Amino acid sequence: MSWETIIGLETHVQLRTKSKMFCGCSTAFGAPPNTQVCPVCLGLPGALPAANGAAIGLAVRGALALGCAVHPKSVFARKNYFYPDLPKGYQISQFDQPLATNGTLSFLSSERGVVNATIVRLHIEEDAGKSIHDRFAKATAVDLNRSGVPLIEIVGGPDLRSPAEARAYLQTLKQLLEYIGISDCDMEKGSLRVDANVSVRRAGETALSTRTEVKNINSFAFVEKALTVERDRQIALVESGGSVTQQTMLYDSKENGVRPQRSKEESHDYRYFPEPDLLPLVVDTKWQKEIRDTLPELPEARRKRMVANYGITEQDAQVLTLTKALADQFEAAAKVAKSPKRVANLVQSELMGRLKAKGLEIEQSPISMKGVAASADLVESGAISGKMLKDLYDLAFERGKDFSVVYEEQGRPEQSRDTSALERIIDEIIATNPRQVEQYRAGKKTVVKFFVGQVMQASKGQANPQLVNELLAKKLDG
Ligand code: ZN
Ligand code: MN
Repeated sequence: MSWETIIGLETHVQLRTKSKMFCGCSTAFGAPPNTQVCPVCLGLPGALPAANGAAIGLAVRGALALGCAVHPKSVFARKNYFYPDLPKGYQISQFDQPLATNGTLSFLSSERGVVNATIVRLHIEEDAGKSIHDRFAKATAVDLNRSGVPLIEIVGGPDLRSPAEARAYLQTLKQLLEYIGISDCDMEKGSLRVDANVSVRRAGETALSTRTEVKNINSFAFVEKALTVERDRQIALVESGGSVTQQTMLYDSKENGVRPQRSKEESHDYRYFPEPDLLPLVVDTKWQKEIRDTLPELPEARRKRMVANYGITEQDAQVLTLTKALADQFEAAAKVAKSPKRVANLVQSELMGRLKAKGLEIEQSPISMKGVAASADLVESGAISGKMLKDLYDLAFERGKDFSVVYEEQGRPEQSRDTSALERIIDEIIATNPRQVEQYRAGKKTVVKFFVGQVMQASKGQANPQLVNELLAKKLDG
């Protein structure tokens, strides 16, 4: 019996603001506990909230980038529940009139190609505080520095069909949010958090089955693992004659397991009602347009343009647009180099790995984009070999110097155009492989690749491939 998995993600994203959503307290990360608080975010009686305009602007920016309809009027609502890190006894959120609805996020699924996932809604809310269980023995501490930090909640439709798709969706979402600069999306710092609704059904069924919500997925690496564990648990349960209960499951990354936390609340359990201390949120079309006009080119459009402009593949474009910085740097080099395609290959095969090994961001690369372009041109013209380029890149990273500097320091090395040594190698290879020579002369021209390989090996990668081809053709045809 084959099973289908249905996943929808709810993503909470901390907006990049200096101050909190409804008060002037700082949002800076890492301050000592309870030092960034005031009567409003402590929920003291009589304190009045005032909405943060910068946060609203960022939320609208996110909604527009996701293709959502931004509503001219939306309403803040109280979501009532008790929790030790929620001093007010309610969270200010949005309920039946959210900021934005009905958007799309296109992502690349390894199983289904491009998938257009629905964004059901995007609303503004404030964060709660943080319960800390490992600071004092047998006691839980509460830090309210996060209380009132501005968030958007992005609710995706049940459009994902595997844990791998959930990961791809989340990666694409993170990339988009980083591109438009509304969040640092750092999962480790809690600025991007994801809850997943998961259900399974037998292949061919169309109705949705009972779902569970998986929480506490606190690192990117765990998204796929946590959802796989929960999917497998549900399938095993149903196959053994049981049925899935609607509940919240907590993921435990140490055990790589899930355990039930509580039965899942329905929205009526929260007794939502409009926040009486705040006016409805008005985002007029003029403000929307102003924000829309400042959106950069979004990743999807950029990928399409890069494929068209530089003759690179869809796959190259995927990798090279992973971050805006990487795409910017690639384009800076691609614009001045003779072969943008070679730049794309170099960045992926020679630069990214070396940066990763040193823990450097693309902006911190010792080899500038001018250097990448120059080195690509040198290989393109046959002046240096691929092997020489690798050695020069190694030197550049070792010395922390740009490509051109290292190239000068090494006395502008050039791959050998001395044909006599190369001709000797070729003669020997032709002499020791009569069978392949026969095949070639009988018309099987592809055998030339075999000879090129042999020559490159014999010259330890130092020979100029163009020259090798020329000489081989001359000798084999002659
Ligand atoms: Zn405050
Ligand atoms: Mn929420």
